[in-house]
Amino acid sequence: MSAPATGKNWRDGLTEEEQADVFEELFMHEVESWFTADIACCDNCYDDFVAEWPYAYSADDAQFQCQSIDLRCFYSGSRLSESYTEKEFKKLLPTIKCPNCGESLTHNMWPYNLPFIPPKNYGVILDELAQRASETPFLLLEYPFCTKVRDAIADVSTKCSPSVSNDFLFRGRSLTAGATPSIGDFDFPPAEFVEEGRYNHAGGPVLYLASSEEVCKAEMRNAANLHIAKFRFPVPLKILDLMSPHEDAGDHADILSFIVFSALLSAKSQDKGFNRPEYVFSRFIKDCAKSLGFDAIRYPSTRVGTARFNLVVINRELTLAKHAAESKIVCV
Ligand SMILES: [Zn+2]
Repeated sequence: MSAPATGKNWRDGLTEEEQADVFEELFMHEVESWFTADIACCDNCYDDFVAEWPYAYSADDAQFQCQSIDLRCFYSGSRLSESYTEKEFKKLLPTIKCPNCGESLTHNMWPYNLPFIPPKNYGVILDELAQRASETPFLLLEYPFCTKVRDAIADVSTKCSPSVSNDFLFRGRSLTAGATPSIGDFDFPPAEFVEEGRYNHAGGPVLYLASSEEVCKAEMRNAANLHIAKFRFPVPLKILDLMSPHEDAGDHADILSFIVFSALLSAKSQDKGFNRPEYVFSRFIKDCAKSLGFDAIRYPSTRVGTARFNLVVINRELTLAKHAAESKIVCV
């Protein structure tokens, strides 16, 4: 830590307000040059920020989490320590307000920029959609924002061709102890047993697949007698890729990134009762994708804090019994 100047310095002639302005300018300049980002949230609004942007927590190799910094470390690691004593820094720190909530910074800050531009009135959109989801879910398409989302997916559909992936995929099922299942036992479930899910209506079977055993276990939430099938699925799939929507979306990239990063698609399930308003918008996306010719949707896992993904197959013709290859089943 460098020894700050004592006695008279150029700041002595400034009013308190001017001192605060100079401090803020230097502080923000150091944040920008250290992180190439603005302050996204502080201790006061961290929970609200993560609830509003659940996918920001793990996207891009958890950049948001990696950039959190203790303000004492920020002081000693930045040029602020060359211009201010620690005592002066502590005294001036309350003059720095969090751009997200307007409160003074206290112990930590999270410099981070969302990798897209959210709609100007996104707070209103989120509130109004939450209300519609719980009151009139079947009328979602009447809402202009939802029409824009469907148009964006339609545009992506015109630029997206089916492709075959060689990656292994994973699917878990809770089976009786000692069972010796075949890959067909992991297929689309019978409609009469299908409850409402993130990307399916009640009675509408889809295949939820995971990109790793870890994601699979996390999504199955420690189910008893969990069996996991590992397999390749070498069939051409037209995939609505919500993990990197910018690739095919062009002008629509921001709106698709917004729905993925926000609670619209990435809210954690409350896991209680039949009322799942947090799934209404994702099921709307599934309907858009289905009607626009997609076979599957690739989306981030909200259960694992990494860039791992889930794939939901919405084309019921593409069964595991017919198309899975190199399958191996383990009881975990
Ligand atoms: Zn804040």
